[in-house]
Amino acid sequence: MKKLKVKNKKRFTIFLALMLLAGSSTVVALEKNSISKPSTSSKELKESSEKVNSSDKTNNKDNSNNEDIKKQLLDQYNYKDSNSIFVLVNKENKLEDGYIPTDLVEINYNLVNKPIQMRSEAAEALNNMMVEGKANGLSLLLSSGYRSSDSQETLYSDEVATRGEGINYVAPPGTSEHETGLAIDITSNKIGCKLEDIFDTTEEGQWLRDNAHRFGFILRYPKDKEEITGYLYEPWHFRYVGVELATELYERGITLEEYYEGE
Ligand SMILES: [Zn+2]
Repeated sequence: MKKLKVKNKKRFTIFLALMLLAGSSTVVALEKNSISKPSTSSKELKESSEKVNSSDKTNNKDNSNNEDIKKQLLDQYNYKDSNSIFVLVNKENKLEDGYIPTDLVEINYNLVNKPIQMRSEAAEALNNMMVEGKANGLSLLLSSGYRSSDSQETLYSDEVATRGEGINYVAPPGTSEHETGLAIDITSNKIGCKLEDIFDTTEEGQWLRDNAHRFGFILRYPKDKEEITGYLYEPWHFRYVGVELATELYERGITLEEYYEGE
């Protein structure tokens, strides 16, 4: 670069001399070109080096994006994260205080009672399951989805007042899957739309037990797992965890507790 500058200086001197001598605009134009040439090529060099730098930056950006995706995946699989579809909620693992899902959507079809809400991903999967159930001639009805911690509190105190504490159907506030927006209670008009064990004797209950995993749902409180889950058998309660995990749990015949403890 130094050499170029010296060369430029010489050229500039010659150029000035020529200007003085000839005063010709053609010469000015020619000389302007030759003077600007080295500076242009240095600019080109700079630009191309900037391009290299910027492509380095792009690569770095790609790498950090990959890192972000990895981190997101890890976070997503974090069963302690209240907002993860994999979250483990039971009497020992409470949701974070005041957790309210931000992607609740309303479900207005095949309801036993008032409209219910679920997180959007779970609602979409539920919709697909209901459609296929209907196509199989089943009468599936939805009973209960998302519950705020306040309504869970009311349910719980009513349950404790009638049954006392211990293993029962209603979870203390902060420990109910219904507060995640990922759980759904399903019944059938064949048993008067109740939530009772005899649901597993209906076609609806049996179909759900054998097919829910294909849509990402698990029968969360199976028979003979009461000591592990802390809940009585609930053939009507299904929890969304995504197809991959639901299928693994179904095939291995294990609960979420056993899955995470075995990891
Ligand atoms: Zn339930």
